[in-house]
Amino acid sequence: MIKECVKDKKRKLWRIFTRSLTLLSIVLIITLLSACHKNMSNEKEEVLETIKTEIITEKEEDVGNDDIKLDDITELRLEYPYEKELNIMDDKYRTYYEVFLYSFYDSDGDGIGDLNGLSSKLDYISELGFNGIWLMPIMPSSTYHKYDVENYYEVDKEYGNLEDFKKLIEECDKRGIKIIIDFVVNHSSNLHPWFLSALNGLSTSACGQELCIHQEGCITHNPYIDYYNFSKGKPNHGSYYPTHVDDWYYEGAFTSNMPDLNLDNLALREELKSIMKFWIDMGVDGFRLDAAMHFFNGESKRNIGALAFINDYSKSLNPDIYIVAEIWTNFSKYVTYYESGIDSVFNFAFATESGIIAKTLNSVNNKSVGKAFSEAMMQVESGIKKNNESGIDASFFTNHDTARAAGYFNNNLDKIKMAQGMNLMMSGSTFVYYGEELGMSGSGRDENKRAPMYWSDGEDKIGNSASGMTIGPKEMEEVIHKYGSLNEQVDDPLSIYHYVKRAVRIRNENPEIARGNITSIIGFEDNRITMIKKEYEGDPIYILYNFTDQVIHINLKEKGLEEAKIQGYLSVNGATIYELESSITVSPYGIVILK
Ligand code: CA
Repeated sequence: MIKECVKDKKRKLWRIFTRSLTLLSIVLIITLLSACHKNMSNEKEEVLETIKTEIITEKEEDVGNDDIKLDDITELRLEYPYEKELNIMDDKYRTYYEVFLYSFYDSDGDGIGDLNGLSSKLDYISELGFNGIWLMPIMPSSTYHKYDVENYYEVDKEYGNLEDFKKLIEECDKRGIKIIIDFVVNHSSNLHPWFLSALNGLSTSACGQELCIHQEGCITHNPYIDYYNFSKGKPNHGSYYPTHVDDWYYEGAFTSNMPDLNLDNLALREELKSIMKFWIDMGVDGFRLDAAMHFFNGESKRNIGALAFINDYSKSLNPDIYIVAEIWTNFSKYVTYYESGIDSVFNFAFATESGIIAKTLNSVNNKSVGKAFSEAMMQVESGIKKNNESGIDASFFTNHDTARAAGYFNNNLDKIKMAQGMNLMMSGSTFVYYGEELGMSGSGRDENKRAPMYWSDGEDKIGNSASGMTIGPKEMEEVIHKYGSLNEQVDDPLSIYHYVKRAVRIRNENPEIARGNITSIIGFEDNRITMIKKEYEGDPIYILYNFTDQVIHINLKEKGLEEAKIQGYLSVNGATIYELESSITVSPYGIVILK
């Protein structure tokens, strides 16, 4: 209640404040409008008409004031005047929404998110503009996160069944959403029948025969022993755990519940083929490969070989399959994995608290921050092309393993929003982790990073199938969100939700953003301002970033861009970014798209 009252009061004060600014601006704007009207193109006229209409509406309600400054114009909260037709291409350059099903939407009131819950929220995802979903593991597992698989051909009962999954695929198809699933093959669960059989095999004695009749009951012939990496005695390298069978140890790069698979084993490769075929036949559009750097304990060449095997086989079934791998390391290392032929490797250079997006926004006082950001984007693009001409960047800035952005920007709303804009204006496929569109909190232990999607607030929030709210992982600590639930943010035009929706929309209006290559960087005297030129099939597009907290005026003529027109913009404070006489006025932390 107190929170609500303070909010109401703040809203009222804000309204009074913005209205005064509006009034302050009226006289000059109208003067400007009439002075510039003659030379304006149709598009400019349209934009300014919108501004004018707003001002007149305000004027009817109040009385003017003549104490005004030019910069006050940008403080106006106006309608967005640049909306274009959607131009969504059906290719591998997509905007993905990462879903952790457990915490997403509960359809049956048990407090655990499920497949039917996701199916019922596809319109939400689609209306935000996403045309891809990365679904975190759905196969049977005894952990809440399900990154240790017990059966590769089923759906975990907590999530539903294969019929529910088919229904989800059908519903995605109807909306043009492609769905990729986590394919966890670095390791299985220690409860997987392969591993249990292997342990059993280790406890038996060798039959000594060439033709064994004992099969799994023979240490020499049990086929599953070589699916894993067993060692007699504990090796002095790597991460090994005792089997408690004689002196046998097994490799587990992550935990003792996750024995590493031996991806060189040919029989295992045949199993993997049939698993891939099973899910591709089911209708999935691709795979996200977990922990690919650990396939062979950091041995890049062998890891790349295993990725090539997965990539080649899945594309032999369907060339449109999209493969993206997690290689969580620095750029110079992960970029070499593009040699495998997979479409994408997650862009860990730009993501997480220590990545370029966060670093850029957390060092905006550094005078060269904008220039450095553009140069880093260009380096990533050329690095990818060097290793695979058709490689596609896969940018993100948070995921289920990282702290959420609200925390690492110390709840600076402008930076939380602009991080979204920077990510969504990047080349390639872009990924957004569920709940980031609301600025959800979550840091510290992993469970906190995977908190219930914040659909609504109120007494009925948990385990009520009407609200869909989930209970979240058991070990989760209390996670307090600073920004409102979806219900609240939908009603606030300045919310993170509306910023993200606009950013995805701009991406969907301009195919050059995802598909273009950066061909040049346009510098400014103040290097906290930067502009890149991307080209796609001969069409240029310009993206301008203002990393200052000031309103800036850019003279396009000086940059030889007098013909360029604003295609859209992202404004953290809702102020209109506009163009007058080939000069653009950009609000603090604004991003502008020009063509
Ligand atoms: Ca449920």
